[in-house]
Amino acid sequence: MTAKIIDGKQIAANIRAKVAEDVLKMKTEHGYTPGLATVLVGEDPASSTYVRMKQRACEEVGIRSIGLTPPADIPQAELEELVANLNMDPAVHGILVQLPLPDHIDEEKILNSVDPEKDVDGFHPVNIGRLSMKGRDPLFIPCTPHGVIVLLEESDIRLSGAEAVIVGRSNIVGLPVAMLLQKANSTITICHSRTRDLAEHTRRADIVVAAIGRPEMITGDMLKPGAAVIDVGINQKADPTKKRGYRLVGDVEFESAREVAGALTPVPGGVGPMTIAMLMKNTFRAAEIALAKQS
Ligand code: NAP
Repeated sequence: MTAKIIDGKQIAANIRAKVAEDVLKMKTEHGYTPGLATVLVGEDPASSTYVRMKQRACEEVGIRSIGLTPPADIPQAELEELVANLNMDPAVHGILVQLPLPDHIDEEKILNSVDPEKDVDGFHPVNIGRLSMKGRDPLFIPCTPHGVIVLLEESDIRLSGAEAVIVGRSNIVGLPVAMLLQKANSTITICHSRTRDLAEHTRRADIVVAAIGRPEMITGDMLKPGAAVIDVGINQKADPTKKRGYRLVGDVEFESAREVAGALTPVPGGVGPMTIAMLMKNTFRAAEIALAKQS
């Protein structure tokens, strides 16, 4: 079997195009422009690149982007005040605090201080709590996990009743993916670094989501024939044939997995583009919530 390759780039482009349409309609019909504030503390190069990509995506879909770049040594109280001001600013509908934050900052306290109605990253405990509870829905679903579900849905993968194995239990990826699959009526198993026999679990899964951060750890022989495999990992692998000396690989060994899986995301071009597309969607939704409160 050769797996169908899931084109995350195309699916994300379709979502961004739809958001652009919705934003234009909101502007023409209500004179209202969605706004996203990004808070980048310090000058970490990877974080700066991510924030720049998010700002560029905002421009493309017509969302106003407000970039705040406090220095790395900003005191906790000042960062909290900055977030409090954004909470009160009517031109700001979504607030994104780029992680990781410097060591002296209490990350949990900062994330808790974001107004849940502006929490477009979906990391506020109120939103995560609702995501975990039966019969409740969060205002915002975390972007990468939501992207994973949309990729499965767009690929016509049946979620209800499926055996889903999620490898990784981080607050930002593994855990919310598991909660979402559980809400979609999959039977979930969450694996992590203490799981005794990982392959025993992945081999019986109809759906495998890999969010580990270990290059090419899931190999074809660990998969059930026909399984849908979503690879969230982004890792650098040494490659002297590349100008920069490395190439990007996922947590799944692509070549062996494609021989066994039924559907598979590539890295890059799978989950990656979905994260920003879902952020644009969440920001539009935040503006909708604010607009509905006005009228
Ligand atoms: P993380 O916080 O480091 O979590 C990794 C998880 O993998 C942990 O739960 C850990 O278990 C588990 N793990 C580690 N080694 C393992 C092993 N040998 N066997 C089984 N489980 C193991 O990472 P993350 O933030 O979730 O990110 C995961 C990957 O996704 C990274 O490559 C990251 O770059 C990528 N990512 C991509 C996007 C995107 O937009 N595409 C977004 C976010 C992250 P323990 O809990 O026991 O430690």
